[in-house]
Amino acid sequence: MIYMDHSATSPVDPEVFKAMKPYMMESYGNASTLYSLGREARRALESSREKVASLIGSNTDEVIFTSGGTESDNIAIKGTAYKLRAKGNHIITSNIEHPAVDETCRYLEKNGFEVTYLPAGKDGIVSVSDLENAITDQTILITVMHANNEIGTIQPIAEIGEIARENKIYFHTDAVQSVGKIPVDVKTLNVDMLSISAHKLYGPKGIGALYIKKGVRLEPIIHGGGHEKGIRPGTENVAGIVGLGKACEIAQHNLEETGRYVTSLRDKIIKGVLSEIDESYLNGHPTKRLPNNINFRFTGIEGESLVLHLDSKGIASSTGSACSSKKLEPSHVLMALELEEVQAHGSLRLTLGKENKPEEIDYVVESIKDAVGTLRKLSPLWCQT
Ligand code: PLP
Repeated sequence: MIYMDHSATSPVDPEVFKAMKPYMMESYGNASTLYSLGREARRALESSREKVASLIGSNTDEVIFTSGGTESDNIAIKGTAYKLRAKGNHIITSNIEHPAVDETCRYLEKNGFEVTYLPAGKDGIVSVSDLENAITDQTILITVMHANNEIGTIQPIAEIGEIARENKIYFHTDAVQSVGKIPVDVKTLNVDMLSISAHKLYGPKGIGALYIKKGVRLEPIIHGGGHEKGIRPGTENVAGIVGLGKACEIAQHNLEETGRYVTSLRDKIIKGVLSEIDESYLNGHPTKRLPNNINFRFTGIEGESLVLHLDSKGIASSTGSACSSKKLEPSHVLMALELEEVQAHGSLRLTLGKENKPEEIDYVVESIKDAVGTLRKLSPLWCQT
């Protein structure tokens, strides 16, 4: 199996698993208890908090643990909306957000809030001047993702953050796809809140974190025993938290090297495919994208069939995000790039990881070429073009 779907999820790093195991089997105490087993768990938890904070350049007490990216996004967005409702009811986001943000904004729209969805345009990057023009005296929150999960484009977060700050508007970014892949520093990025998910950076599923800048006040959306400053109550998932911490530590240590490595593999695949396959295109900005992201489109075929063909050749790929791949509608992200529906259906996402090998590249390019050729022979869409 050649796994090239790291934006859907990544395997757990063996070192991460090794770090987690004792907190399931031996040091299994509840981190809120007073005896030594509990204190041991608490120490591990706080040490992980330091590791997460170190990777994103925040203070340790500005990080809370959550169950993952979806929950972090919900806490940030609904928490701001409910807290600041008396001040204003307007939220600005983009039209290429992950459903964890998009659906949360749509839910708030049904509950009295107004939402502006900034167009990402042909290259998949929002315009800072569009954002500036969208601000009203009712705007309480801007939420724009750092890197897109389908096309990998990287948004001008630092500039958006500066505008948010000048206008005294809270700024949240969903950094689930960028943390661990490119440098993420909450101060440089000028963000008030930032979402993280462990399973995108070789940590376990079901654990994540939310950076909340000191002084930012949120209304809790979950109520319970007061854990994580009362913002995310519930007995802490200590083993998961230890896994997230270890994954952050490893990512921080290897960030540049891994980034350079996957970029070189990515660029070889892009060059190979675009030069060898007629009417193949790269979706999204060619350079302002994650080092591991490729999103092609091929005229005349459907992405789903291509994914199945590649699967039969032992290559795991995707058409878009894992969450939208069960739907038959074209991805909202590709439609946001102003593609025709039929073009958006012909997409293929390959997202690379550190365990991919240079010797896999030729096989992947050849397999895509073969699969596209076979599918085009069968495709009425290709005959018409
Ligand atoms: N945000 C982005 C950009 C994502 O890619 C994902 C997962 O695919 C999420 C949020 C949701 O994260 P989680 O799976 O941890 O809930």
